[in-house]
Amino acid sequence: MLFIKCPYCGIRSQNEFAYGGDATVKRPELNKEISDKEWDDFVYNRKSPRGKHLEFWHHISGCRQWFKVHRDTATHEIFKTLKPHEEL
Ligand SMILES: [Zn+2]
Repeated sequence: MLFIKCPYCGIRSQNEFAYGGDATVKRPELNKEISDKEWDDFVYNRKSPRGKHLEFWHHISGCRQWFKVHRDTATHEIFKTLKPHEEL
């Protein structure tokens, strides 16, 4: 079981959280013409990296805030948690 440090509440059990996806995906610029491939990449296509990855998590059974987790997908080691607007 993972223990995740919510930036708002502190360390809690993984059971209180829901995975929210890749936090490195950037939304295309508003009103900018983009190709179907770029739109597909933004909406559907995700990498499944082995190693360090930045992810969104939702503290669904706690404060209900979204935040980022910098985690190793192979070892599950958590390096850092950040508020959504913070960068690594
Ligand atoms: Zn929380």
